[in-house]
Amino acid sequence: LFNFAAGPATLPEPVLLKAQSELYDYQGSGMSVMEMSHRGKHFLSIIQKAESDLRNLLNIPDSYSVLFLQGGATSQFSSIPLNLCRSSEDSADYIVTGSWSDKSFKEAQRYCSPKVIWSGKADKYVKIPDFDNLEQNPDATYLHICANETIHGVEFKDYPVPKNKGGILVADMSSNFCSKPVDVSKFGIIYAGAQKNVGPSGVTMVIIRKDLIGNAQGITPIMLDYKIHDENKSLYNTPPCYGIYMCGLVFEHLLELGGLAGVEKMNKKKADLLYQAIDESKGFYRCPVEQSVRSLMNVPFTLEKSELEGDFIKEAEKEGMVQLKGHRSVGGMRASIYNAMPYAGVEKLVGFMKDFQARHG
Ligand code: PLP
Repeated sequence: LFNFAAGPATLPEPVLLKAQSELYDYQGSGMSVMEMSHRGKHFLSIIQKAESDLRNLLNIPDSYSVLFLQGGATSQFSSIPLNLCRSSEDSADYIVTGSWSDKSFKEAQRYCSPKVIWSGKADKYVKIPDFDNLEQNPDATYLHICANETIHGVEFKDYPVPKNKGGILVADMSSNFCSKPVDVSKFGIIYAGAQKNVGPSGVTMVIIRKDLIGNAQGITPIMLDYKIHDENKSLYNTPPCYGIYMCGLVFEHLLELGGLAGVEKMNKKKADLLYQAIDESKGFYRCPVEQSVRSLMNVPFTLEKSELEGDFIKEAEKEGMVQLKGHRSVGGMRASIYNAMPYAGVEKLVGFMKDFQARHG
């Protein structure tokens, strides 16, 4: 079965098999990772190795902290303004390229005075702005982007240089985290929910420049204060232990594959195959996103004969390709092809698409 879900999404088979083999008795400890104290030696070595492997994968400089948190990427929509802005009057710039950056902007309105400096809404979110023409506010505390819009399939291929006073760029990388190499030093904060590329839902990763920690507004709930989690090495309270263990197995697996440059190459190959099939269908299938910013992870497409979309999804499901329905807000179809989707899965989908077109075109 090939699972094209946008998240929680498919995980690498070797990772699931390793977890299965260690489920009942983790490395001779006599316990499952689920049963262990988060302060015991086994779990401490699990979380430390997960952090060190992630640092290797993304080449994270020592001047950044890595936090394993809870509450999903959604809780970061609040944590960011609460930790970076000193009061509700401080401003922040938001680039809105789809539903997720729109949500993060709306949540920021509760804790600071954010401004949308560019929005793709009028074009139905199919573009990334031209960085040279962006009017950034020099007094903004930070510039926020969503590096990959999971619903609309729009991905930043490069990043705007922040022109605010602290030079702070914040990126939601939930749906393309660890899908390609990233120069972490360009960012003040990178955050991501785990459930697309790196593990089960429930774990949220935050990579933050150390000098940005320790300035939270007085009203910040303790669980959203980066300083608390940094000082306690993500163990202030009971962390999502099993989820962190699973993320650690995925990081190990990605390193075994040779790191993120190779992972990106594979992701490009898969995405190229699918976009090419869409573009060569002579309009039978259509992807609305501008070519240069099409996501390598989430591929939305529609059928010219939209009345056939239900049949497309049902027939694909019968052939073992599930979760191809587009997000309820945009309709159509969406194939999410994260790291763990094998090339064979995309080949099968493309074969099915051609056959469906031959029957209905
Ligand atoms: N940001 C992006 C880009 C997402 O795709 C999602 C979820 O799918 C979120 C944020 C919200 O993440 P969570 O459900 O972990 O809060």
